[in-house]
Amino acid sequence: MRVAVVGAGYVGLVTAACLSEFGFEVICIDKEADKVERLRQGEIPIHEPGLDGLVFANRRAGRLDFSDDLASAVRGAGVVFIAVGTPSRRGEDAADLAFVRAAAEQIGRALDGFTVVVTKSTVPVGTARILEQLIRNVRPDADFAMASNPEFLREGSAVEDFLRPDRIVVGLSSEIARERMSEVYRPLMLRGVPLLFTNFETAELIKYAANAYLATRIGFINEMADLCEAVGADVGAVTRGMGLDRRIGLHYLQPGPGFGGSCFPKDTRALTSIAKQAGARSRIVEAVIEANAARKESLAERIAAAVGGLRGKRVAVLGLSFKAETDDLREAASFVVIPALQKEGATITAYDPVAIAAARPLLPDVTWCGDAYETAKDADAIVVLTEWNEFRGLDLRRLAAQMRKPVLIDFRNIYSAGDVAKTPFVYHSLGRTTVEPQA
Ligand code: NAD
Repeated sequence: MRVAVVGAGYVGLVTAACLSEFGFEVICIDKEADKVERLRQGEIPIHEPGLDGLVFANRRAGRLDFSDDLASAVRGAGVVFIAVGTPSRRGEDAADLAFVRAAAEQIGRALDGFTVVVTKSTVPVGTARILEQLIRNVRPDADFAMASNPEFLREGSAVEDFLRPDRIVVGLSSEIARERMSEVYRPLMLRGVPLLFTNFETAELIKYAANAYLATRIGFINEMADLCEAVGADVGAVTRGMGLDRRIGLHYLQPGPGFGGSCFPKDTRALTSIAKQAGARSRIVEAVIEANAARKESLAERIAAAVGGLRGKRVAVLGLSFKAETDDLREAASFVVIPALQKEGATITAYDPVAIAAARPLLPDVTWCGDAYETAKDADAIVVLTEWNEFRGLDLRRLAAQMRKPVLIDFRNIYSAGDVAKTPFVYHSLGRTTVEPQA
């Protein structure tokens, strides 16, 4: 079967590469011609572990191709996935469906022969039915069925997540769509991955409910971390003590600088908008959004308190992406913290293993460095914003020796307080007491 994937971003590219790995003949379409050209040259535009090898192997096997010509890619495809962006509407909570609608219209015009059109983008409840009507309007004679197949992959482990998902959710309204989607996911079903068939609305809501719940766990543990600091408890032990309870589990209970990325912020906002429209309340999710924004905004104050005021201080920032193993900067804490520090008179040096190229044009007046040691030179504080593995094993004595004042502010709790106590650093982390160097 031929499969077309519209959108060659984090989700589209991974979907296309993984489906070609299953043996399907896949064509991945993007409207950005230069992105397509780079992909055809073998250049992967995003940082995602394992993706380059998969793309290379399947291109060589002749199963994967890239194009900016949506119409010819869609013709003859048995399934067409829509994997374009659904950002928040400017200044609003609701998801902007402009890209999805445009893609659906283009697909509708190009359809020939029976095709299943699948929304893989995260879309508000009701979208599959809206798109079905949209396609009918542009092509009353088209032979197609809709399916809603939200994606749960995480950036940084997207390939692994796609190939070994916990479950696959498919919303649909016809037996023929069910058969086609079963064919697409048979390789995973044979490995025992549960495939959940639901109606459109349920599938669409599962995605938002899952993301809002995970965001809530993060918001909750961040609040507990603050409480730990206030009462002298240790959040690491609290998390373990809670998480070993099988009703709770340990996942998504790691305190941090506030969640960011391309999904949790916009999807929680979109959920509140969906709920409002439906006349239901989403008080918990609203509180999570508010607490998360306040957390990001409070980080500069925490740094100021740790260094005794920001004016004239040099702050070394380690990590810019919203989490490790990705170059995605969307709604990253760095974009709130760095401008706030600069506004208060601090100068910034910064390093990230993969995200500097993307960050450079967006964050002015930052001195970009080639590694953590260069970043720390003459700094008054180091701030860890992203939990990259390469920061975990840094030689802290060597770092401290380069600095004007050895202050380490760890917004990811990647160091053991006991280890840092043996170095010259004053160590501030989340939900744990500040550590002064041992004599
Ligand atoms: P992205 O911004 O990385 O990629 C979207 C791509 O679609 C871009 O390359 C854009 O040029 C292309 N595009 C837009 N309109 C097009 C059109 N009409 N024809 C061809 N190409 C077009 O987005 P993403 O992060 O991959 O997210 C896509 C969707 O998947 C969103 O709805 C998102 O919420 C959802 N999602 C994302 C993740 C994630 O971790 N990034 C995880 C699960 C679900």
